[in-house]
Amino acid sequence: MPFNRRTFLAASAALCAAPFVGRAAELLPAGKGRRVVIVGGGWGGLSAARHLRDLAPDLEVVLLEKNPAFWSCPLSNKWLVNLVDTQFLVHDYATAARAYSYTFIQTEVSAIDRDKRRVVTAQGTLDYDWLILAVGIRYDYEAWYGNDRRAIDHTLRNYPCAYIPGKEPAALKEKLENFKGGDLVMTLPPMPYRCPPSPYERACMIGGLLKSRKIKGKLIVLDPNPSFLGFSRIFAEQYQDQIVYVPNARVKSVDPFNKTISTDFDDIRFDDAILMAPQQAGDLVWKAGLVAKDSEGKHTGWADQDPVHLHAREDERVFLIGDLMDKVSPLFGHYPKSGHMANRLGRIAAREIAARARGVVPEKLLPESVCYVFSSIDPLEAIRIDSRYKFRGDGLIAQSVKQARDPNPMGEDVQWAKSMFAEFLAFKS
Ligand SMILES: Cc1cc2nc3c(=O)[nH]c(=O)nc-3n(C[C@H](O)[C@H](O)[C@H](O)COP(=O)(O)OP(=O)(O)OC[C@H]3O[C@@H](n4cnc5c(N)ncnc54)[C@H](O)[C@@H]3O)c2cc1C
Repeated sequence: MPFNRRTFLAASAALCAAPFVGRAAELLPAGKGRRVVIVGGGWGGLSAARHLRDLAPDLEVVLLEKNPAFWSCPLSNKWLVNLVDTQFLVHDYATAARAYSYTFIQTEVSAIDRDKRRVVTAQGTLDYDWLILAVGIRYDYEAWYGNDRRAIDHTLRNYPCAYIPGKEPAALKEKLENFKGGDLVMTLPPMPYRCPPSPYERACMIGGLLKSRKIKGKLIVLDPNPSFLGFSRIFAEQYQDQIVYVPNARVKSVDPFNKTISTDFDDIRFDDAILMAPQQAGDLVWKAGLVAKDSEGKHTGWADQDPVHLHAREDERVFLIGDLMDKVSPLFGHYPKSGHMANRLGRIAAREIAARARGVVPEKLLPESVCYVFSSIDPLEAIRIDSRYKFRGDGLIAQSVKQARDPNPMGEDVQWAKSMFAEFLAFKS
């Protein structure tokens, strides 16, 4: 169904309806054909929406997203230090919905009734033939605070890490702009987490900021993982007066009120902080009962999808794509949780659904990922990471990763982002 005045008015009417008694109102009138509902207008969901319309024009596609506009986490580290404009990262959803003829509704999905194939929002329900969950990640603050809501809210308000699109990025930028000196601690999450090189890139951006503004302060990076991609050397060579890097520093507990962090080695007091908690699949995956379990029956924290076809192992009508996914191969574990990867997974899910809708067996396709990371502002230096996949003889997915240091970047990251935005947001430069 195209994003036109009729669908917009139908959606608006449903959104404006009074509180429901009994069965909730429907978010949209029943369509004539089969419907794919996509929850999450990020890198995975937008790509799935666009490609579904190309591959299966007879299917109705509805994208549900809670935020009013798209926010790109890629390039946001450079934005934090004013190397990229806000307008480049923020895009409206209506342009893409119009260009690719799907329906976009801004709403938060609160529950999924898989037996009835129905999603539930505060504004009404929506039935689906196929559902794609592309809701990204959530922070696992419980690992630090149990169910102490006060500590969680205090952390979100005062020590945002901006790993999820929403209000956090602006709050973090303001914090950096106002930082006058002292110990700024940044905790990194344990692997796996969203965009593994990005906290190191962020450390370099902040190190560069402290250096150029001659701020008498240090960024203390507490990393529960071993040193990554040679960044410990980059920190030591370029930011020896700005960054203190502590690898293998597992956070045992955090007291956000008294500003202390306990690791396996030490208790650290901070003046200010960027607190990255461990990460997990987004809330809705938990609500849908689609979180994977390990061999001991404990939740892994990530969505339980078929590694090749991307449907939930428990429910072939639900596809699970992007950063929320669990391991895909015993050979390397998780796909890198990158925007490029989520985009490719969105394409694959679209192909799977289009084939199933036609009653044919879907091809087995594999994604790839490209990531540009900056290690220095002045002089500008970048690293390009390419991850490729193929099936091994025994059918397992194998990974090869290439890294190349670029001492003279010429805006390749911006070109990459432009081409991605052109593909799934109908962005015109
Ligand atoms: C600082 C930083 C730098 C990065 N740099 C790069 C990079 O250079 N290159 C790269 O490829 N990747 C990069 N990434 C990673 C990239 O941002 C993610 O991998 C990508 O966003 C994952 O896409 P996704 O669709 O899985 O999730 P998201 O893009 O997070 O989209 C999920 C969407 O679902 C919505 N949602 C969640 N719950 C609901 C609900 N209940 N109802 C309705 N909507 C809901 C959210 O609002 C969100 O819009 C970076 C990430 C960060 C944080």
